[in-house]
Amino acid sequence: MSMTVASCLNSQKDHGQIQIVFGPMFSGKTTELMRRMKRYQIANHSCLIIKYAKDTRYDENGIATHDRQTLPAVGAEVLSELTSQALQYDVIGIDEGQFFPDIATFSDKMAQQGKIVIVAALDGTYQKKGFGNILDLVPLAESVVKLSAVCMTCFKEASFTKKMVSRDKVVIEIGGADKYMSVCRQCFFSPVKNHDNKPTTNSRSPLRALNNDLSSSSVQSSQIKGNKTPVKSVSSPMKMSQNALVDVENAVKRLF
Ligand code: ADP
Ligand code: MG
Ligand code: ZN
Repeated sequence: MSMTVASCLNSQKDHGQIQIVFGPMFSGKTTELMRRMKRYQIANHSCLIIKYAKDTRYDENGIATHDRQTLPAVGAEVLSELTSQALQYDVIGIDEGQFFPDIATFSDKMAQQGKIVIVAALDGTYQKKGFGNILDLVPLAESVVKLSAVCMTCFKEASFTKKMVSRDKVVIEIGGADKYMSVCRQCFFSPVKNHDNKPTTNSRSPLRALNNDLSSSSVQSSQIKGNKTPVKSVSSPMKMSQNALVDVENAVKRLF
């Protein structure tokens, strides 16, 4: 039985879906987004990654994990800016999805057009409130997971993000290990000791060990070009602030 052009187009559109990867900071959301994107690329899908343009913490031209993996990405402040570009790809990955005001409408529109949309996002603020419009995406999604990090105070599973600099009232402030920590339910309410941005004084604190282990090694970065090119690895230095986590994996290995 031969397929008509219309039914072929319909079957392409049938693949549209939204996958959400939630979790607190340091839970591996960007790592998981990269894993899924690389996998789709291996399966010969063209892939586009979108990052929030104002988030240039680790890498200006790509998304980056806390342990320094990077992939190229296009920046935007509003997703609709990239509609025509995104329509040229099969799979659209969006990192830090909570920062985009039109995350729900854009993702749904793309999924309706047959795109696989993967969104990595903080589900909650450091005040345990829904972050921006991100929760509007949940009823529109095919799949939702919430990852956990390691509690930076007691080493248990951490499902929440806590702000260390709590004197100001700014809820949405971009930052990394210098401003935020991942914590469990109990440690969320324990007092924040380090208002001066210094590592905690707890001698068992993973945060302290990680921040003390600063080094200046070069990093591996991978490229997703889309259009069926294989994933390539190139060496490139990556800018990191003094407070960012460096050599995290080695430090984590020593800790456990
Ligand atoms: P996210 O995007 O959720 O902030 P990333 O994918 O960028 O997370 O980074 C995850 C990596 O962060 C882990 O693989 C680990 O090497 C590192 N890391 C640093 N601190 C922690 C922590 N407290 N819990 C888990 N992973 C951590
Ligand atoms: Mg991330
Ligand atoms: Zn804890």
